[in-house]
Order: sequence, then C-alpha cells, then structure tokens
Amino acid sequence: MANNPNADYILEVKNLKKHFDLGRGAVLKAVDNVSFSIKRGETFGLVGESGCGKSTTGRTIINLYNATEGQVLFNGQDVHKLQGRDVKAFNRKMQMIFQDPYASLNPRMTVGDIIGEGIDIHGLSSGRQRQERIYELLETVGLNSEHASRFPHEFSGGQRQRIGIARSLAIEPEFIIADEPISALDVSIQAQVVNLLKRLQQERGLTYLFIAHDLAMVKHISDRIGVMYLGALAEVADANELYRKPLHPYTQALLSAIPIPDPEIERTRERIILEGDVPSPVNPPSGCRFRTRCPKAMPECAQSIPELKEVEPDHFVACFLYN
Ligand code: SF4
Repeated sequence: MANNPNADYILEVKNLKKHFDLGRGAVLKAVDNVSFSIKRGETFGLVGESGCGKSTTGRTIINLYNATEGQVLFNGQDVHKLQGRDVKAFNRKMQMIFQDPYASLNPRMTVGDIIGEGIDIHGLSSGRQRQERIYELLETVGLNSEHASRFPHEFSGGQRQRIGIARSLAIEPEFIIADEPISALDVSIQAQVVNLLKRLQQERGLTYLFIAHDLAMVKHISDRIGVMYLGALAEVADANELYRKPLHPYTQALLSAIPIPDPEIERTRERIILEGDVPSPVNPPSGCRFRTRCPKAMPECAQSIPELKEVEPDHFVACFLYN
C-alpha cells in the first residue's frame, strides 16, 4: 500500500454515510455524514447508545460494508477502492476484535489452528516456526502453549477474548478495531483486557478504534473520544478535556450518569436524566437529531442540522449553543 501523504493520521474518515435500503422507500441512515481522523499510535474511543451507528461505522471502515457516500482513507488509500494485492495487504494491516469472542471463534477448531489461520492465509510462516509463533502469541496475551490444543468452549469469556486478540495479532496488524471488546465480560475481567490492550499498544505501536456504549468504558484507554448520537458525531475531543469540560448536552448527560467513587461527591452531583427514547434512524428528527431529548433545545434547533465545528483547539462540537 502507498505511504500516507498525511503521516500523522493513519485513518481519515471523511463525510462517511452508510444507509441501508429497507424497501418501500424506507432508508435506515445508520451513519450519516461522519468525519474524524485517528493519529498513528493513539486510541480513539467511539461511544454512543446501542443503535447509534458506532458499530456500523467500524464495519464500514474495515470494509465489511461498502460506503453509501464519503471516504475512508487508511494510510492515504481509499479502502473502498482497493483492488487485487492491496486488498490482501489491507486485510492484514487492519483487524477487528468482537464483543462476543465465542461467536467469532470456530468451535470445531483448536485454539492453535484458530490463531494459525491468518498466518497460513498470509503465508507468514510454516512448520516449527509457525508452531512457535502460536505459542509466543498465546503467552503474549497471558495464556500458555498448552492451550493451543484445546477448543474455545474450554475457556472463560475473558480467556476467549484473549484468544481473539492473539488471532488478530498473528498477522501483525497496524490498526485494530475493538468493537465493544469488554462489554460482555465481568467487571473484574474488563480492566485486565483493557490493560492487555494498552500493553500491546505500547509494545507494538498499534492504533485502536475502541467502540463502547458508555463513557466509563473508554475512559482509561482513549486518547481522544468521539460521541455519536443517531448516526452522527455530537462531540470529538481529547479524552481528558471531554471528561473535564463536556460541551454537547448529550455528552453532559452521558457523563452525569457515571457514578463517582467518592460518596460525598456522588451524593451531591447533578444527574441529567434524558427524557424519551432514541428516535428511529429511519425517521430522524428534523434539524439537530438530539433536539427531541435535549434539555437545552431552542426553536432554531429544529430548523437546520448543526455542523461539527472546532470551538476550542482540538475540541469539536455539533450544537447551536456554540455557533
Ligand atoms: Fe440541544 Fe439544540 Fe444543541 Fe441540538 S443544537 S444539542 S437541540 S441545544
């Protein structure tokens, strides 16, 4: 693949739309004009309630779905226009880890063969070298070589997620999309998997797109965070800045729902309860998508769609309160 002309950014998502035609004139606008960039070596957290389009964004980035409109540039190349050898090179450089590792691990294959599959497809090693590579990967993710001959059902949820991570690492990717990788795990195990991902990032210079449904989950891993609502980005900022000074009313509501460990602060903190349900992406509200639930909605919010604008350095928000 060609070198990235903008070397700072490994991934650039530009005005991405992914619409699904449901028939009879109904169109589900799962992703509707989303733009963001990810720097090499950073973790970008993409957060929003279920159905907000974050997983569809991930799947369109990795080319499991084609784009309805817009571009996804990986190392400067449009992933939806790749052909021939470039497709294989891309498939090696970008990998995905799923929420339910069990569903994505073939129950009839041994763990060794699951991890070795990518090595075989990409012809990375064979024979004894391949075996040693599998053992090494198992140890890297906190398992051991004896696990190679076992089957996925013999492992706990956390261990299965480690197997999924080892499988992704086997082909030495540059970029990993982690789609709710800890949501299905016990709270005690979540931190272990997050710490493993952080260590692997430091050791291997990986870049992550980390998708999650609440802000608490991405807090300890993200450098920057994008908050999605109903197919669009509401706010994008440095992680510390976002927690310290959320600007969008939706981000403020999400943050107010996170419990604070200090009982004194917890007792007095203000909670913003959002009224109503998330509207259907088949028939989103006119103007600002959040206006039907926004405690600060104004008449102009129904008239036009607020653009995602940089209102402070590297802090972007789509809300008329700041325009
Ligand atoms: Fe609320 Fe209006 Fe801002 Fe939308 S544009 S988040 S409705 S204040």
